[in-house]
Amino acid sequence: MTSHTPCIGFVSLGCPKALVDSERILTQLRAEGYAISASYEGADLVIVNTCGFIDAAIEESLDAIGEAVEKHGRVIVTGCLGVKADQVRAACPTVLAVTGPHAYEEVMAAVHEHLPAPRHPFLHLLPPHGIKLTPRHYAYLKISEGCSHRCRFCIIPDLRGDLVSRPIGEVMQEAESLVDAGVRELLVVAQDTAAYGMDIDYRPDFWHNRPLSTRIQTLAEALGELPAWVRLHYVYPYPHVDDLIPLMAREKILPYLDIPLQHASRRVLQAMRRPAATERMLERISRWREICPGITLRSTFIVGFPGETESEFEQLLDFLREARLDRVGCFAYSPVAGAAANELPDQIPEEIKEARLERFMAVQAGISAEKLAARVGSRLTVLVDEVGDEETIARSAGEAPEIDGCIHIEGAWDLEPGDFIEVEVTASEEHDLWAQPL
Ligand code: SF4
Repeated sequence: MTSHTPCIGFVSLGCPKALVDSERILTQLRAEGYAISASYEGADLVIVNTCGFIDAAIEESLDAIGEAVEKHGRVIVTGCLGVKADQVRAACPTVLAVTGPHAYEEVMAAVHEHLPAPRHPFLHLLPPHGIKLTPRHYAYLKISEGCSHRCRFCIIPDLRGDLVSRPIGEVMQEAESLVDAGVRELLVVAQDTAAYGMDIDYRPDFWHNRPLSTRIQTLAEALGELPAWVRLHYVYPYPHVDDLIPLMAREKILPYLDIPLQHASRRVLQAMRRPAATERMLERISRWREICPGITLRSTFIVGFPGETESEFEQLLDFLREARLDRVGCFAYSPVAGAAANELPDQIPEEIKEARLERFMAVQAGISAEKLAARVGSRLTVLVDEVGDEETIARSAGEAPEIDGCIHIEGAWDLEPGDFIEVEVTASEEHDLWAQPL
């Protein structure tokens, strides 16, 4: 006689950090013997992991919860928006439970209450690296939770609390097991990757009986020993970040630095409560390029922050022209409910913010197109992401998945996702490159 295996439908929204939370919950569910479904059909219960970072994300999360309630009915809400349980319950009063971000135990308790675990939890074998939502050949490696900064435009510390670093031994073990399972690229994420270990005074821990201190430099060096690409994301511009560049030059980790700078005017940065040594930033960038000429620099900026004057905005454009960053994201400032910046005087009218965003993107589009054009004719090692009948999509060290452009390889080739191949770049556009296998 077979009995029904309780099945959970799972909807995962939000940033890579939320994705890692989803993976942990899914791993726990599988460990306890629940089946997982990517649709409502056949599911006994639906979990929606939400994002509450900006108003658009809150809306998307509320829509996803509303849809799950309407189409299924038995819904548990978790993630960043879970902190605003009243708002969730006001929009969808029939949700079964609401829990906050990285509250694995609470989510599991709610699941147990509404859908008891099967009686033979180890009926289903769990891969040792857990359940991954990314394609098999790359994986996000979350090294800490929360953030101890208080940037005025951000409510992450309210949602996720102060920095809590995972012990380095545990992180290395997870990284090793991912690589053993076929992962070719590890994407190191946290709210503030460079602060790793500060909350625990860089406490030493062990990996294969080797003492390692819980700090980003040590972690990058240790990850660099694994046979996989290692890419660092969300690196706050602390001075000690400079020490990571020689590791990139020595090809221990990818020569790719995702370093959110947010602005270039000292006054705006101070108003944002961000590090404000902007002249030093240009010097640092040119020094990084001297040490590691192939480095790809990615950053994000905010235009239209309260009080930003035309000349401060121009200063930002000048910085862009001088820094010539490779990959840039930009947002028009949008007031997030609960953010300290909402109280600042001189909020910028929407049409000025939008006009500045457009001007910013136009300057960067030119830089990006020129930088990619300069890569035509170069030879690159690329990692294959997708193989189609007419083209293969790949990335080099210069492109992170999901957020940067990609490399198109036209024609049918005998390749698999996760293969590393050598290519020659043949053409470029504003975001993407075209290449041929060598
Ligand atoms: S460092 Fe990042 S996560 Fe932390 S408060 Fe600032 S913007 Fe938010």
